[in-house]
Amino acid sequence: MMDNRKPYQLVSRDWKKENTVFEVNGVRIGEQRMMIAGPCAVENEEQICTITEFLSKLNIRFVRGGAYKPRTSPYSFQGLKTEGLVMLRKAADKYGMAVVTEIMSTDKVDELCEYADILQVGTRNMQNYPLLRALGKINKPVLLKRGMSSTIEEWLLAAEYLLSGGNEKVILCERGIRTFETATRNTLDLSAVALVKRLSHLPVIVDPSQATGVRDLVAPMSMAAIAAGADGLIVEVHNQPSEALSDGEQSLYLDQFAAMLEPVRRIAAVQGRQFDFDLQREPDLVL
Ligand code: PEP
Ligand code: MN
Repeated sequence: MMDNRKPYQLVSRDWKKENTVFEVNGVRIGEQRMMIAGPCAVENEEQICTITEFLSKLNIRFVRGGAYKPRTSPYSFQGLKTEGLVMLRKAADKYGMAVVTEIMSTDKVDELCEYADILQVGTRNMQNYPLLRALGKINKPVLLKRGMSSTIEEWLLAAEYLLSGGNEKVILCERGIRTFETATRNTLDLSAVALVKRLSHLPVIVDPSQATGVRDLVAPMSMAAIAAGADGLIVEVHNQPSEALSDGEQSLYLDQFAAMLEPVRRIAAVQGRQFDFDLQREPDLVL
């Protein structure tokens, strides 16, 4: 039944009481906590292979990496495009991992569906309505980041575009919003996580990397996000952060990322929830 008190309908808890749960790469997203990790951008074969191999040894199931990068400056590295997608897919397949990568425009829907398991819509495109309409028609999950200056209502209405188009596999991602504060890149709105979990049945994850812009804040904000009820995290990691072509200052060193897993695992356990990297892998998936 349509509820006239709220502008969004299908994404609402009033519409559907139980959490939305769907499976990707053996992980029940929305039920188990998910950990997505990888570089901001795919830079070359060696970089993505080194990082993916490292993550696979930690039993991480989802590797991220941008091939089409929405950069604030047109002079910044824009991503390796198709070449980057090929490298990312190859690395992920080698280690039995799923690919999360960003889509910026409708003309790339077919290509991204070929290479990615989850399509990320970035903060700058949260209100790209033709793109949302196109992604409402695909049979792949969409990770919808919150616009950096968007209200929770606008964010949920953006998700409503996807669900009303027929795509119910949507993951919401809080990645920090723009405030007066400049000491951090953005301001991580953790109250949004707890609130959206009440307002909507969709899984909500947190990106502590874009949210803070500061490497040393990523682990504490990851713990806080899980404590606030987030269904997972998407974290930037790099084998050589000082050499990264984008977002090096907020990228974790590999060992720093590994050290963060146990605290977040324990916080999830307090809530009776399990992280995907803590699950046994099917023997035939182990390479
Ligand atoms: C990213 O994940 O690298 C990214 C560009 O994210 P956002 O859209 O949140 O800025
Ligand atoms: Mn980034």
